Amino acid sequence: MYAKKLICPQCEAEYPLDNLYECTKCGYSLEVNYDYSKVNVPLLSDSLRKGSTLWDFRQLLPVRDEKNVVTLGEGGTPLISSIRIGPQMGVRLHFKDETRNPTGAFKDRPNTVGISMARDLGLNAVAIASTGNGGGSLAAYAAKAGVPCYVFIPESTSDGKVSQAIAHGATLVKVKGDYSCSYRLALEACRKFGWANLTSTYLNPYTMEGDKTIAYELYAQMDGEVPDWIVVPLGAGAMLSGIYKGYMELQRFGMVKKLPKMIGVQAKGCSPITGAFEAGLNEVSAFENPDTVAGGICDPLTGYPQDGTRTLRAIRTSGGAGVSVDDPEIMNSLYQLARQEAIFCEPSSAASLTAVNALLDKGVIYTGDSIVCIITGHGLKDAHVIQERERRPVIPAELNEFQKAYNITI
Ligand SMILES: *Cc1c(COP(=O)(O)O)cnc(C)c1O
Ligand SMILES: [Zn+2]
Repeated sequence: MYAKKLICPQCEAEYPLDNLYECTKCGYSLEVNYDYSKVNVPLLSDSLRKGSTLWDFRQLLPVRDEKNVVTLGEGGTPLISSIRIGPQMGVRLHFKDETRNPTGAFKDRPNTVGISMARDLGLNAVAIASTGNGGGSLAAYAAKAGVPCYVFIPESTSDGKVSQAIAHGATLVKVKGDYSCSYRLALEACRKFGWANLTSTYLNPYTMEGDKTIAYELYAQMDGEVPDWIVVPLGAGAMLSGIYKGYMELQRFGMVKKLPKMIGVQAKGCSPITGAFEAGLNEVSAFENPDTVAGGICDPLTGYPQDGTRTLRAIRTSGGAGVSVDDPEIMNSLYQLARQEAIFCEPSSAASLTAVNALLDKGVIYTGDSIVCIITGHGLKDAHVIQERERRPVIPAELNEFQKAYNITI
């Protein structure tokens, strides 16, 4: 509501709110800036307490005309206190369960803001390059809005994610190669046809505003306490930067005194950002031959490594860390979450727990620290990762066969 302009975080150039995807002076990605003096702080405090959907925070979201808001009731997801894993590790561990969003992933947050803003700017078609969740989500919002939607996804995307986009009526385009190939094609198509590009990197300046609402909800759910660490699986890292921005805004309003340290996690098989952190580099470069079970965060950043550098800077500014984790450890975390906490998430999300383990071992995270893992997407989206690993025999419908096959005795 009180969004004022777009600014370039790199060269500080300013632009009006527009259908704009990069700084025309330096080529960097843009960010929404607000007239913070207009914000009604008591009303903000009240919406923080209420916080049942993301649009309760509309004062700090960019859409100007409320009738352009396209919502499916996203946000307001539960913060779950770990009952077993955290106590075993000796840390105060929480899970922000983003699988409870309308389409099963946190991508509903950036998309509700992105598509609403597209309407606010008078655009009548939307497109996205996605590793799957973003596309399934945007297809649902486009169905609600009644606008055409084009989803560009890598050929390897799981059926669970593909079928969501198709079911909602999007034009689903399977693209040869990794995510960066889909990214490039979506970019060219949007430029040529004038569609709003909701690709979930830093490309669209409005979508990160949806991500930041996670910070507002955490503030309310933790009664104003700021966790020591927030652990975020990274594609390009817009969610991590968005959450950090949300806390910086809370600090501006005097609601929090400190900021959380941000931990970014990637799979070793596609780790352009966390690999750069671990190597002590200041710039991220594209990752060659990406391959990981964590498809949702498999973004090699080919052609836009500066997005990774932006995330790397946010991690360093916060005093946080980047960590690369192995696929088998990610699968262990997935089972641990599902069996010990009853949270079924996709591998990309489970990686956040793997990161906590790794950083405890390294002595970065201490006993007693408070930690929030963002559980980004539902397990059913990537059900194949379980089916492929856990085949079960088919048995005749006879009790003794069952006892034999499963070794069950009285
Ligand atoms: C998109 C996605 C991420 C990464 O978010 P970014 O904002 O692209 O860094 C993490 N987990 C899942 C399940 C995702 O779909
Ligand atoms: Zn610039």
